[in-house]
Amino acid sequence: VFSPVEMAPRDPILGLNEAFAADQRAGKVNLGVGVYYDEAGKVPLLRAVQAAEEARVAEHAPRPYQPMEGLASYDAAVQRLLFGPDSPLLDAGRLITAQSLGGTGALKLGADFLQRQAGKRMVAISNPSWENHRAIFEAAGYDVVAYPYYDPKTHGLDLDGMLQGLRDLPDGTVVILHACCHNPTGVDIAMADWVKVIDVIQQKGHVPFLDIAYQGFGSNLEDDAAAVRLFAESGLAFLVASSFSKSFSLYGERVGALTMVTASQEETAPVLSQLKRVIRTNYSNPPTHGAKVVAAVLTTPDLYQQWEVELGEMRDRIRDMRSSLVAKLAAAGVATDMSFIQQQRGMFSYSGLTAEQVARLADEFGIYAVSSGRICVAALNTGNIDAVANAMAAVLK
Ligand code: PMP
Repeated sequence: VFSPVEMAPRDPILGLNEAFAADQRAGKVNLGVGVYYDEAGKVPLLRAVQAAEEARVAEHAPRPYQPMEGLASYDAAVQRLLFGPDSPLLDAGRLITAQSLGGTGALKLGADFLQRQAGKRMVAISNPSWENHRAIFEAAGYDVVAYPYYDPKTHGLDLDGMLQGLRDLPDGTVVILHACCHNPTGVDIAMADWVKVIDVIQQKGHVPFLDIAYQGFGSNLEDDAAAVRLFAESGLAFLVASSFSKSFSLYGERVGALTMVTASQEETAPVLSQLKRVIRTNYSNPPTHGAKVVAAVLTTPDLYQQWEVELGEMRDRIRDMRSSLVAKLAAAGVATDMSFIQQQRGMFSYSGLTAEQVARLADEFGIYAVSSGRICVAALNTGNIDAVANAMAAVLK
């Protein structure tokens, strides 16, 4: 049975981690990662999380199965965070939220649901996008196409290209949209431009599938959800994959959610019943711990406030690293304007480095980045930023 199995293609980011681990140089830096590190280079354990965990352990509660759609208080808290506590959607009977295994799990549930229940076979992702978007949907049986997004000349959004790309797709295509803090480019869509995107989606009958994995890392929890709320106001039916991996620094607990906004109350019960089948036939029901912790934080005012402060600290530290990197590159003699790094949002920056320059960074300086030039700004700290800026300057000259 196993003899015909061939090696899977190497995952480029895992390969990068292996090369980093094997590098013996003391000053090595891994900018290829997709997680937030604090100033000490560690994945933080948030104080709000720790407090909620301690309370949970002290309860010594039994461990029954959860419902297929997960913890009800968690699902309700996700809805409030996405749509805002005053959203009319909260009471409109048009929302379905299921706790999922991270944002990845939410995308997979949505992909399976749309394929089985709506006969969808084509999905469009941004060019470029998080690599797993393509992989998840291909594995679910979709044709994956890309719409224009990033313009390397301006280091910004190719809005006209994007709108035309969306118009050129067959009607009814599933369209994945990064709600904020685009991975990998850090380039987001301005509110006025979201209105145009929604317009085209509406005209074409596309199925919007919003991915929000970094709420709170751009401006704040409210503003980062503005695109989700604009879709909510549009009256369209759409899907949202959300994740607390980053915003709660709970990567390994797999806390995410799939939310579906139906077009009318009548649609909700059948859609929920079919979503439950998708869940039942994948993993039956989700785990308890991460959802209990997140729900406790989101529904306890003191803990919520604490979490917002800590999220702000992570966001501000990344912003400081962005402006510091731009200043240090200029000081190190880089003549081109690198201020776009400061404009980009979230954890990542498309640095403009070519694959050759990235390879030189690794070979000559022990600084590892993705070959596309994506760097994780959240992996910078005051201890390594000078070395990174000087090395980048050396390969950019
Ligand atoms: N969407 C995007 C754009 C991401 O960058 C990530 C994480 N790298 C995810 C979804 C999934 O996050 P997770 O499954 O770890 O919650």
